[in-house]
Amino acid sequence: MEIIKNIEDLNKFRSNYDQISFVPTMGNLHDGHISLIKRANEYNDTVIASIFINPLQFNDKNDFINYPKTLDSDISLLIKNECDCLFLPDQSILNNIKQIKSSYKSQHLCGLNRPGHFDGVLTIVNRLFDLVKPTRAIFGKKDYQQLLLISDFVKENNLPINIIGSEIVRDQSGLALSSRNNHLSADEKKLASNLYKTLNIIANKLDTLTINDIINEKNKLRDLGFSIDYLNVCNPLELSEESNYNIRPLIVAIAAYIGEIRLIDNILIT
Ligand code: AMP
Repeated sequence: MEIIKNIEDLNKFRSNYDQISFVPTMGNLHDGHISLIKRANEYNDTVIASIFINPLQFNDKNDFINYPKTLDSDISLLIKNECDCLFLPDQSILNNIKQIKSSYKSQHLCGLNRPGHFDGVLTIVNRLFDLVKPTRAIFGKKDYQQLLLISDFVKENNLPINIIGSEIVRDQSGLALSSRNNHLSADEKKLASNLYKTLNIIANKLDTLTINDIINEKNKLRDLGFSIDYLNVCNPLELSEESNYNIRPLIVAIAAYIGEIRLIDNILIT
């Protein structure tokens, strides 16, 4: 695997290949990220992954500073999973960066209490797309709103990039894998698996669901020690809350804190 740290070398590498499958990440790679690399490899093109901890998308400075960094093991995992190139840019890619403003869809779910977060995501993703010029880019459905906003952005700007959503990878308890899980103790991880259980409870009773059921599920999670950012049933294209639970598709999405650690998950019902 080639490890490339500057734009000049990336351009040289890029000019040798026709089709590129691209997997942008912030590192601290786990099986969720690796599933994206495997997905990228299904296309038999050249696979480029990037690791860049994007300061533009953090609302909390400490969260940015404390973001886990495990470069050596990330590199080993990428090599093992047949990634062809790792792009490892430094902060200079932020110089003169074109600021992207996310659409109204960023006002829902994760964007509501994290102003500017998705502007930061789109700004860096657009920059990476501009540099890597991928044929396709693969993103996890765990960050569903991010995937939707990026797909919309690519369509609206006629970028010649195919955006692929890849399934959520979970541990045996159902907990969606996340770099943030590393900050949880074993007991907290067990507790965290209740998020997926709650999503399933709601998804399995949509036919008879009422708003009170959602309130009850939130209260149960609060009693267990969670602090809830949102638990919503939404239209998966608009992300606005849906009150008619009989229509399809729907997405049930949650964000909740255990202590300082923010966890997200969702189930798409088609
Ligand atoms: P991050 O490093 O957190 O920015 O994530 C990089 C990519 O990995 C994003 O497209 C995420 O949606 C994806 N990802 C993270 N966790 C998972 C997971 N458990 N399952 C599938 N994709 C994931």
